[in-house]
Amino acid sequence: MACRKTRRPRRNRDGAKASRNLSSPTLAKQVTEIGHQFYARGWALGTSGNFSAVVSRDPLRLAITVSGVDKGLMTEHDVVGIDERGAVVSGSGKPSAEASLHLAIVRARGAGAVLHTHSIWSTILSDAAADGGLAIEGYEMLKGLSGVHTHDHREWLPILDNTQDWASAVPRVESILQEQPHAHGFLIRKHGLYTWGRDLGDAKRQVEILEFLFEVMGRKRGMAWQP
Ligand SMILES: [Zn+2]
Repeated sequence: MACRKTRRPRRNRDGAKASRNLSSPTLAKQVTEIGHQFYARGWALGTSGNFSAVVSRDPLRLAITVSGVDKGLMTEHDVVGIDERGAVVSGSGKPSAEASLHLAIVRARGAGAVLHTHSIWSTILSDAAADGGLAIEGYEMLKGLSGVHTHDHREWLPILDNTQDWASAVPRVESILQEQPHAHGFLIRKHGLYTWGRDLGDAKRQVEILEFLFEVMGRKRGMAWQP
């Protein structure tokens, strides 16, 4: 362990002083706004869901919501900076238990932001599709997904089984992301949705598109979605 007899202020790569606050207040503000909006939409109730954005790639730093915070009431202080191993490097609070998943997605997809919701429709559909994934095809709204330019598209969202040990589940997530290079997100069974984008705005649009499509499919099938 490094000897730290004298408490000199740490400096980041640009030579700026590291502070107790997140090094990117703009990102913290944007993550907070998404928390408020998603709470209002019913996609992150009861402290559920977590959101992150890449602060820097080398070294890898994410701004991520802390665990157990009410997304409707959260402030910028509920967003901390973590390093590539998930350790807090700025701000204070415990990062989301699923921080390792955010890091895995950023690495695998080169994403600039990762958003995770616990909506009613994603929970229902993640439970109903039995063959390892959910297919969505033929809808105009699919064109809202990155790189999709026609309704004539088949989106396949893999479904992972839920766990309370996400750190150990990272290899499983990495292999699914590798096996499904075109997937814009994945579902966790009886749990919710993960999606991502090149930045927070891009990822937010993908959540809106996918949540819209989940609701369309769920309402259309009704109780037939039950396994
Ligand atoms: Zn979750």
